[in-house]
Amino acid sequence: MKTVAYFSAEFAVHERLHIYSGGLGMLAGDFLKSASDLGLPMIGIGLFYRDGYLAQRIGGSGRQEEAAEPNSHDLTLLKPVMAPSGERLSLRLPEGTLPLVFQAWEVSVGKSKLYLLDAEHPANSPELKSITHRLYAGDRNMRLSQELLLGWGGFALIRELRLPIDIYHANEGHSAFLFLALLEEEIGRGKSLASAIEAVREVSLFTTHTPLEAGHDVFDEGHVRPMVQSVAARAGVETEELMSLARHPGGPGWNMAAFAIRMSRETNAVSRRHGQVARAMWRRMWPGKEEAEVPIRHVTNGVHLPTWTSPAMARFYDAALGPAWRGEGEDDPFLWARLAQADSALLWRARLEAKAALFERLREGGGVIGGGSLDEKALTIGFARRFASYKRPALVLRDRARLKKFLFNPERPAQIIFAGKAHPADEPGKALVADIVAVAKSPEFGGRIAFIENYDPSVAKLLVSGADVWLNNPVPPLEACGTSGMKAGANGVLNLSLLDGWWEEGYDARNGWGFGVPGGREGADSDRLDVEELYALLEAEVAPLFYDRSLDGVPRGWVEMVRESIATVAPRFCGRRMLRDYAAFLYEPPLPAIARPIERTQASTSAA
Ligand SMILES: *Cc1c(COP(=O)(O)O)cnc(C)c1O
Repeated sequence: MKTVAYFSAEFAVHERLHIYSGGLGMLAGDFLKSASDLGLPMIGIGLFYRDGYLAQRIGGSGRQEEAAEPNSHDLTLLKPVMAPSGERLSLRLPEGTLPLVFQAWEVSVGKSKLYLLDAEHPANSPELKSITHRLYAGDRNMRLSQELLLGWGGFALIRELRLPIDIYHANEGHSAFLFLALLEEEIGRGKSLASAIEAVREVSLFTTHTPLEAGHDVFDEGHVRPMVQSVAARAGVETEELMSLARHPGGPGWNMAAFAIRMSRETNAVSRRHGQVARAMWRRMWPGKEEAEVPIRHVTNGVHLPTWTSPAMARFYDAALGPAWRGEGEDDPFLWARLAQADSALLWRARLEAKAALFERLREGGGVIGGGSLDEKALTIGFARRFASYKRPALVLRDRARLKKFLFNPERPAQIIFAGKAHPADEPGKALVADIVAVAKSPEFGGRIAFIENYDPSVAKLLVSGADVWLNNPVPPLEACGTSGMKAGANGVLNLSLLDGWWEEGYDARNGWGFGVPGGREGADSDRLDVEELYALLEAEVAPLFYDRSLDGVPRGWVEMVRESIATVAPRFCGRRMLRDYAAFLYEPPLPAIARPIERTQASTSAA
C-alpha cells in the first residue's frame, strides 16, 4: 500500500487546535481520520498558526469583531519533533527562498500523523516569526512566505525524517512549492528537466477545490523569480523554463494551481459538477483538447461520520445497525439499508434528542444573538457556513413579508438559526453578518431568528444534527462540493438545497429537497427566481410534511424522508468512501491517462 503525504494549509483535527478556517480544513481533518480508519498509511503536513484564524464576536453595533484564538501548547496534543541528536529539530528553507529557521510539532490523528511547521524559532526575526501567526492573514508577501514554508518546508521535513513517502498529494494549490522542491531533487539526481518533470509527475497528485479563477493563488512573477532563479542556477536549467511551468494561458503571474496541475500525475475536482466546471476552467492548458477530454477527474468529498454524528443519532445507529457503521461499515449501503426496518417512533425520538442538545446550547445563551422566542417544537431551519457572498446567507430574507408570514404561521411555526464567520478582509461578507445579526435582533422577527457567534466545529455539529432542515443556497456553480449538507443528511437533517456541488449527486427526490437550476441561471433575476422556489418549497412541502403528525405525534412522512436521507447520504458521502476512491483511482494504480471523470456505480443509492 502506498504511503501518502497530504499537504494542506488547514486541518481541523482537534477542537483545541484552531488551524482551519472552513470547509477545506474540515475536509483535510476528516481525510486524515478516514485514512487512519481505512488503514491507509498517511501523514499530513500543515502549519502551526499560533493565533489561529479568528475568534468572532459580534459587537454592540452588530459588526463582526475579530480576536486571535491562540492555540494551546498542550504537550499531550502536540509533541515537539526531535532531531536524532536528541535536541529539538530545526530546519532551514533552501538558499534563495527565505532565511527562515523552523521547527515542527507532531499531532496524532488516529494512526495518521500530522506534522505542523512553526516559524516561531529564536533564530528568526520577529517578522519571520510572524509567518506562522495567523491563517489567511496579511498581505501577498505573507501569503507567499506561508506557502514557501508549507511546500518547501514540508518537503524538507519529510527528507530530514526520512519518511518513506510514495505519493505527494497537494490539497489545493497552497502547497505547490512542494513540487518545485521535488523537481530540484530529481534534477540533482542527474535527470534532464523533461525527465525530472516526468519523475515528479509519477508521484504527485493535486486536488483543486476552487471553481473560480480568481480564487487561485497567483503571485507576481517578479516576486517569485529570484527564488526560481536560485533553483534554476543550482539545477543548471533556464529560469524561464521553470517560470513557464506555472503560467496559465489566461493571465500573467506564477499560478500555484497551474503549476500543481502541470507537475501532477492527476488533478481532481471534488464533486461531479465541480469536475465539469474545472475542466471548462482549465481547458486552455490543454490547447486542442475538447472540454470533455481535459484530464481532470473528480472524487466527491465525504465526511468522517464518527466525528459528525450527534451522540443521540450515534446511539440510535449503534442499536439499529450495530457498531460497524463507525468503521468498516461506514460506506456499506447494505448496512445502512437496514434502517428500513428501524422503528419510526424510535428514529423520531433520536432526532428529537439531537434537537434537544442544540436547544440546550441555545438556552445556555453564550454568544446567541436574538432567538428570544425559539420553540423547540417548531420547524427549525439551520444555515451555517463561511459568510462569503456567493453563499448568499441573506437570500431567504429577500421577501421579508413572505418570510414573516411563513415563520409566524400559527399552525406551522418555523424559525431559522444562522452562524458563520466572514474573512476579516471580506467587507461584503462582514456586511452580510451584520445584516443577519440585525434581523435576529429586530422585533420584526419576534425572536424567531437567531445568530450563533463564532461558528466552529462544535457549533457546526450541534446545528447539522439538531436542526430539522439544512438550508443551502449558493450561486451555482460556485459551491465546489459543500460538506455541511453531508453531515446534516447523515444525521437525518433534511437538506433543502440548491442543486449545486455535492447535492446534485446526492439528491434523489425522496431524501430532501432540491431547487434552482444546476449550473446557474442566466440573467440578473436569478436571486429572485431562486428564492421564489425556496419559499414555495418551504410553504407547500417542508412545513406541511413536518406538521403532518400521526396520533402518537410522529410525523410519519417526514420520518420516511429522514430514513431515506440517512440511508443514501451516509454510505455515499462518508470519509471511508472518499478515501477508498482516492486509493483505488488515484493512489494505487499506475494509471493510464484516462481523460474521463470517475463515475461511480450508483449501486449504493439503488440498494438503499
Ligand atoms: C462542515 C463545515 C464547513 C464546510 O461546510 P460547507 O457546507 O462546505 O460550507 C465549514 N465550517 C465548519 C465549522 C464545518 O463544520
